[in-house]
Amino acid sequence: MSRASSFKVPFFLHDLGQEEIDSVSAALRHPVLTTGETVARFEASLAEYLGCRHVLATTSCTGALHLSLLALGIGSGDEVITTPMTFIATSTAIIEAGARPVFVDVEPATGNLDPARVAGAITPRTRAILPVHLYGRMCDMPALADVARQHGLAIIEDAAHCLEGRLGDIRPAGLGNTACFSFYATKNITCGEGGALAFNDSDLLAPLKLLRLHGMTRTGAERAQLGYQHWDMASMGWKYNMSNIEAAILLPQMNRLEHNLARRLELVARYRAGLSDLTGVRMMVHPAEGTRHACHLFPILIDGMPRDDFIAALHDEGISVMVNYRPVHLTHYFANTYSYQRGDFPIAEAIGDRVVSLPLYPRMADADVDLVLAAIRKCLGE
Ligand SMILES: *Cc1c(COP(=O)(O)O)cnc(C)c1O
Repeated sequence: MSRASSFKVPFFLHDLGQEEIDSVSAALRHPVLTTGETVARFEASLAEYLGCRHVLATTSCTGALHLSLLALGIGSGDEVITTPMTFIATSTAIIEAGARPVFVDVEPATGNLDPARVAGAITPRTRAILPVHLYGRMCDMPALADVARQHGLAIIEDAAHCLEGRLGDIRPAGLGNTACFSFYATKNITCGEGGALAFNDSDLLAPLKLLRLHGMTRTGAERAQLGYQHWDMASMGWKYNMSNIEAAILLPQMNRLEHNLARRLELVARYRAGLSDLTGVRMMVHPAEGTRHACHLFPILIDGMPRDDFIAALHDEGISVMVNYRPVHLTHYFANTYSYQRGDFPIAEAIGDRVVSLPLYPRMADADVDLVLAAIRKCLGE
């Protein structure tokens, strides 16, 4: 038996069930398995949910970020300003496009890219800003959009945590040129591996479709439907198209998005109430007025003992937790390649040294939260 299954409270359990099984069965009975009608239905459903004009489904968020950069003409010799407080893919997508990631530090309260620091990192080579809506809380998009407008920069949003988030009326892709989503195994909706990009600029649609599939002028689904037709390679392209099978897993989950968010909000409220009197723990998820936190993760900051000792003690109590994140600039590769070192981004480092993500998913019972809370009290001796 795997270690994960021995946890009293696992870090994450997906909620896929009979609806997804039926949906995949239907997809498998259809002759076209690659990008086709089921993908188109998923894309339309996500576009409607987000209130944006276009959605293209991809094999990952990393791929969606890469495609966004390419479609916006960003590549060799260019710089993209981003946050070190994220998963490495945010930064590696910039490298994949041939550009250089330039980090700036984050806001202490949210862990999001600090708009006030962006202008100081802009050089003549800067082409774009790549913010991450960390944990599900939207960045200060109006402030970032102001900086971008003043300096003629694009904005590509890493919205892997933030499908459901809002800042007033602003949603992902509302102010950015594109917003990228992940349907990786532990995200709010999942097909194991998958992603999407959302955008409003119709001029990006045709180039992005070419970039997503080898630069080919005909898709596999079209060939299956129409019979063989000669196709051309119009431009350089990559292989990032989603299959109908993944789209079939995702479609039923669109109907549960709001219900599942409501449940995560209840769990967060229970966590917050249970942690409020502890001195060894600080909370990071503070939904500000007018914002809707997507509550993808529930991070806490550990002050009462060394973070790694806390994680080990919680694991001994049967509670599985994660770290989101240790900052990207301190990974071996980034530190070596770009000469980053400890001290460069002290706010991200302070979060990275203390942060722990607690289990948070709709299948959790209130009693699971209580188990986590009791274990935390025991570990901290409070
Ligand atoms: C999960 C995640 C990604 C990568 O998503 P993939 O679909 O696995 O490529 C990128 N950025 C953030 C913030 C993530 O959490």
